[in-house]
Amino acid sequence: MSSSVALRLPSIDGLLRHPACAPLAERYGRDSLLTGLRQLLDELRPGVLNGHLSAVEIGAEVLAGRVGERLAQQQRSQVRRVFNLTGTVLHTNLGRALLPDEAIEAVQMAARYPLNLEFDLASGKRGDRDDLIEGLIRELTGAEAVTVVNNNAAAVLLTLNSLGARKEGIISRGELIEIGGAFRIPDIMARAGVRLHEVGTTNRTHARDYEAAISPRSGLIMRVHASNYSIEGFTARVPTAELAELAHRHGLPLLEDLGSGSLLDLTRWGLPAEPTVRQALLDGADIVTFSGDKLLGGPQAGLIVGRKELIAKIKKNPLKRALRVDKLTLAALEAVLGLYRDPDRLAERLPSLRLLTRPQADIFAQASRLQPMLAQVLGEIWQVSAVEALGMIGSGSQPVARLPSAALCMRPQVSKRLRGRCLLNLEAALRALPIPVLGRIDDDALWLDLRQLDDEPAWLGQLPHLQVDP
Ligand SMILES: *Cc1c(COP(=O)(O)O)cnc(C)c1O
Repeated sequence: MSSSVALRLPSIDGLLRHPACAPLAERYGRDSLLTGLRQLLDELRPGVLNGHLSAVEIGAEVLAGRVGERLAQQQRSQVRRVFNLTGTVLHTNLGRALLPDEAIEAVQMAARYPLNLEFDLASGKRGDRDDLIEGLIRELTGAEAVTVVNNNAAAVLLTLNSLGARKEGIISRGELIEIGGAFRIPDIMARAGVRLHEVGTTNRTHARDYEAAISPRSGLIMRVHASNYSIEGFTARVPTAELAELAHRHGLPLLEDLGSGSLLDLTRWGLPAEPTVRQALLDGADIVTFSGDKLLGGPQAGLIVGRKELIAKIKKNPLKRALRVDKLTLAALEAVLGLYRDPDRLAERLPSLRLLTRPQADIFAQASRLQPMLAQVLGEIWQVSAVEALGMIGSGSQPVARLPSAALCMRPQVSKRLRGRCLLNLEAALRALPIPVLGRIDDDALWLDLRQLDDEPAWLGQLPHLQVDP
């Protein structure tokens, strides 16, 4: 109709003064708004020149709306909460252990106020940050001393470098493992400056193999808990106590990388047995390293515990300064360790243990309750059922052990040819929710393992937003 009158984009100044833009300036700041408007106008200009856009599409309200969406998108945090319904409880890619309220409060305190991080309040002199948790660690593990670093990979690196640099580290071939994310024992040894001396075979290593490897070049014997795989069948492994005796007879320290490092016997809660830190020390390991955010259920950290003079040597290594933990981690760690003083209530108070010990019947009841609501949202083509499922502890702990759980299982009722696409579409739609929902595809179905579905109202509340491409 108005082809004779060329359309013109509104001016930046006009838009900035427009009432529709005022709340955006208030919320995101004038500079961001200005940048957003400029970008949008630049993008629209060709469309206006060649007549593809109508007057409505370039009205101030519409433009303000579009800029508002962009600014909201830009402002949205990249660190997002998700629902971990994968069935793997301590999921490394999803942040491993969830912290208890006590630890969250401690983190807030440490974030908000100055604190005695390296200050001894009794003497008024300079303190050591490791001292903040040393008492608890001694009490809970029987260790003489402790030092804490960024994660267990750092703990292993620092220990090896401190105790074995330029010497040989003796280790069984069956323990030369790779943990996800490029942590490989031979590589870490090399970086630590320790020469790898491998002994025995993949499935069987005997005391005599270690014995034969010992020479004046030896610096330490290392044992690694093969957390993320299992060797079964015709196997032999020297018990820690025997290995410690052998190491000490030759004046060598025994270092044990426990990985998960459970502080208590988990069979007490019906979980698979994991070696405990206390037992490894009792068996004679001189240094034990383990993660803070695996079975311990705390923040990401690497704990190095053991003999006082060895810990002192490790603390003197300049690398320690590069690998040390921050105040937030220490605050959280202390709070989590504090909960271990009362094992009877630990499964209620420590989220990872509470989730790991959640009874299958309880999870199944939840799945049955949610099944009709999910079925209704998904419609005809999806068969939704509440089923028993098997989960995992995760983070390399007990790779073969399965946790009896329950899940919502969604099967597309379409021809085999279309099934794969259908499942991927549903998976993407769940991931696109305000709080992304992560499940797993297996056996031509999408599974949502509900062991970790704590916040049911939030989960249900966003179901209506689910938009699955047909
Ligand atoms: C998990 C694990 C590590 C690495 O620990 P991070 O805390 O992830 O750095 C090292 N060794 C073993 C045996 C492990 O299980």
